[in-house]
This record gives sequence, structure tokens and C-alpha cells, in this order.
Amino acid sequence: MSDSRTDVVLSGIGVGLTSATAPAFVVAATAPLPPYRLSDLTPQEETERLAASVAKVQLSLQAVAADSTGETREVLEALAEIVNDDVLVERAREFISQGWSAASAFGKAVSDFVAPLITADAAERFDDFEWLSQLVQADLAGITLARELPTEGRWILVVDDLTPADTAQFTGAIAGVVTLKGGPTSHASIICAARGIPAVVACAEAATVTDGETLLVDELGSRVVVNPVELQASYSVAFTTRLSEPLIAVRANIGSVQDAETASTAKAAGVGLLRTEFLFSDAQTEPTHEAQVAQYRAIFESSPAGPIVVRTLDVASDKPLKFAVSSLEEQDRGYRFLVDNLGLIERQLDALSAAQKLTGREVWVMAPMLGSPDQVRYFADLVRARTDFRVGAMIELASLAHTVAELAGIVDFVSIGTNDLSQDLFGIDRNNPVQPELLDHWQPRLVELIGHVATAARKAGIDCSVCGSAASDPTFAVVLAGLGVTSVSSAPAAVPNVRESLMAFELATATKAAEIALDCPNSWAAKGAVQAFLIHGAIL
Ligand code: PEP
Ligand code: MG
Repeated sequence: MSDSRTDVVLSGIGVGLTSATAPAFVVAATAPLPPYRLSDLTPQEETERLAASVAKVQLSLQAVAADSTGETREVLEALAEIVNDDVLVERAREFISQGWSAASAFGKAVSDFVAPLITADAAERFDDFEWLSQLVQADLAGITLARELPTEGRWILVVDDLTPADTAQFTGAIAGVVTLKGGPTSHASIICAARGIPAVVACAEAATVTDGETLLVDELGSRVVVNPVELQASYSVAFTTRLSEPLIAVRANIGSVQDAETASTAKAAGVGLLRTEFLFSDAQTEPTHEAQVAQYRAIFESSPAGPIVVRTLDVASDKPLKFAVSSLEEQDRGYRFLVDNLGLIERQLDALSAAQKLTGREVWVMAPMLGSPDQVRYFADLVRARTDFRVGAMIELASLAHTVAELAGIVDFVSIGTNDLSQDLFGIDRNNPVQPELLDHWQPRLVELIGHVATAARKAGIDCSVCGSAASDPTFAVVLAGLGVTSVSSAPAAVPNVRESLMAFELATATKAAEIALDCPNSWAAKGAVQAFLIHGAIL
């Protein structure tokens, strides 16, 4: 451990409500695959390198297949065959004879091989081939694609950014997380907030941290302190509860049975967002009807009492679905994804309906990233033709936020996804923000838009919830109630604190807090002014 520096402060953006102190575990960045290049070696040498690598990848796929079951096993076995397919390897040899390196030749051969599949029935296999291509290229370049995280002890992870494959490995050994990249609403932040793991993201200065240095992750102070001696975690604001029930219902965002159980213990009033794509992020092929029903049933049975709001599959660059058709461009989310994958969504609705009948739970369903009332009508018609669920739309694009009044009679509810809405409103990539502060939910223009949606929804006779990360901030939840939002859905670990703050104030106080936030010039002023008002009754 380094003792050369103490109380060094690194700034980032805090996520969560508790702090943690533990030694740093620095996770090496996965190096990008090298670009295609011509080789300095002879074709004979490159051909031998390719053969050795293909044999190695084949063996490792067979080994993982042997440890797997069901469809996963079948897919892995098939890939172990394909990697050594005569046509594929012959095509790679042709590229090698043209002077390309073994890795480049294999990458090019796979691209040629899959090109006819993109329009054919086998399109869903495209990503498997892409993965195979990467495995062989990484092996030839000496790059490890998978990263191993600690499973014992207690550590603060320091990492460039976390993928779903990384967060799937999280155990109790992860006491805190510091990411160099990312933003307050990126995948890593959502997972940390759900699990109650304190995190500071977008902390580029953490590149200086070395293994074993003690770190204080002070997410309320949006800072990491290296080798803390004098500096302590920032104080959180705790409000005194006065009401017997929260001003508005507090539901939970879930993506696993574990989340559902945490939400039940926290007395959430149901589920406000089930991120269904989290359930299938590992699947190489579309899960069967039976497999989907089993997953939804397990989730429904562990969910807290109250409605369960299910979101149909949402695909994005930080949450890819290997088995769905998508080039992962932002414009392929929402309506485009829906029409391109209509059969997939219909089968999802059928499985949800079957699970609902088995459990008797009250299920509502909503679609992500729709952009106009016509798109919402298309989705609502689709759902009503197959189920008797209440239907809703997420408000994640400014274009729909401004047309909520036209949704009267089309949907039963809307749910504001502030993570994507901020991204759209300010033109900032939530996974790699250049100005992360623009994604701060205290931005007065975001607050204003939420207020507009809530008012329009009330006039249209539609329920209006907020399920983005903004709803996990206990102080901001009071502002949301004041804006006329009818429920919030928070990260499971945040539900107790959000409930408490919504039990601390009468509606008139919440309304005043919302007015104060709206009147401020920027996000830090809004947060400070609302806190001063709620804690001290001060109007600045
Ligand atoms: C959002 O965008 O606010 C939201 C809740 O959806 P997700 O974070 O899953 O994109
Ligand atoms: Mg979203």
C-alpha cells in the first residue's frame, strides 16, 4: 500500500446513499482489438498461428459447453464446431495468402461468412459469429476479453467502465465502485444503485490509484478520497417522518429475483419498472416460451404487493440483447426495435400473460423510447389484442414529453425515464457523457419538462410515474410529488430513504419545493435551494 499520499481528493459523480472505505482493486482495462493489418510473417507462419488459435478457442468453447446446460450448451457446442468449419478456415487462408495477418484474415473471413445471414432467417446467429471472431482475434493478439473480479474480501473496484458481463459477477466482495468513465445514469450506476453499492463514476483522476491504496468512496460528496486520514464521508440529509404513508406511492425498479426480494423487504408499493432485458442478457438465442414464463413467474412471485409494471425488451449499446435484430444504433431502440422484432415482442407478451395467469398478479406493461402518439397507439393496440394488461408508454424522448396531452384514451399510464430523457433533452450520451453535470436530474429544464408531463397526464386522466434514476434521490422525490407525479419507482436499495422523505412533508411543502427548483438557474443551485427549504424552511 502506498503511504506517500493522504487525503487526496479525486472528483467524480456520486451514485447511491451510503459511503464505503476499503482497499482498491484496480481492474485492468480490456484492450481493444487491433485493427486489420498486413503481416510481416510468411503465409505459412500465419496459417500455423491461425490453426493453433482456432484449436485453442475450440477447446475452450467445448470446455464451457460441458459445464453448461440446455440451450446455452447447444449454442456453445455449435460454435465450437463452426470455429473450425472447413469453408470458414479456407476463406481465412485465402486472406492470409493475400498477405493479411491471421487475426485480420479470420475477422474478414467471418464477415464474409455471415454476410448472407444478415437478411436470412439465421440473422440471430450474427452476434454469435461476431463473438467467435473476437475470441480468435483476441487470442492471436494476446488479449483477455473476460475480466475477473474479486469474490473474497472487501474491495473498492477501480475500473475504466463496467459491462453487463462484469456486473453479473458482483458479489458481496464489492464494497464500492469507482469508474473512470460512465455517467450517473449508465449501466454501472444503475446496477450499483440497485444493490446499494456506493459508487463514484466519471472519475478520470482515479487512473492514478494503485492496487491496495485505501479509498473512501464518498458518493454524497461526489468524490473519492485516497488514503483518508482527516476527511470523512459527507453527511446525508435525513428527514423526520410525520405522515403515516408516503405522499405518493414508492415502487421499485427491478431486474432480477434478488432485486424483487430487496424491494419486498423495503416495503415498496409494487414494481414500477421491470427491466426485462436484464433477465436475458446472457441468452445467445431467444428463450423458449416455457423459459420466459418461468423467469417472469419467479419475478412476479417475489415482487412486493402492488402492481408490477413490466417494460418490454429495451436494447441499447450498454444492454445488448444477443438474440434480437438490432444494429445497436440509438435510433433502433423504441419503435424501430418494436417493428423490427414484432414476433419477439408478441411472444414476450404471451409469456407475460401466461405468467400473470399463473400468479394472479396485477401486471401493467409499457414500451420504452417511443417518439409519438401514433407509435404509442401502435403499441397499445398490440398489447390489447393479446392481453388485458393496463398499457403505458415510457416518456424518454422530448418529442413524446411534449405530446402527452394527445395520449388521452390511448394509454392508461406514462412513466418518465429521466435517464434517457436527459440524454435526449441535452444531447449528451449517458454512457460516455462529455458534460456529466447535464445529466444531473436537478437540471431546472428537466424539472420543468417533468412538471409539464405530469400536468398534461393529469388533464388527460393518465397516471404519471417517474422511474429514471432521479426517483432514487430522496430529496428530489419530494420535488416530484410537488410537480404532480403520482408515483415514483426507485432503485431497490433506495426505497426506504425515498419512502421516509415522502413521509416527512405535506403536499403544500412539496409543491413549494418544486417551485423553488424550477426558479433556479442551474442544477446545483436547485438542489441547494430545495435542501435549504426542506431542512431549514429557508427560501434563498
Ligand atoms: C430511463 O431511461 O430513465 C429508464 C428508466 O430506462 P433505462 O435506464 O433502463 O434506459
Ligand atoms: Mg431508458
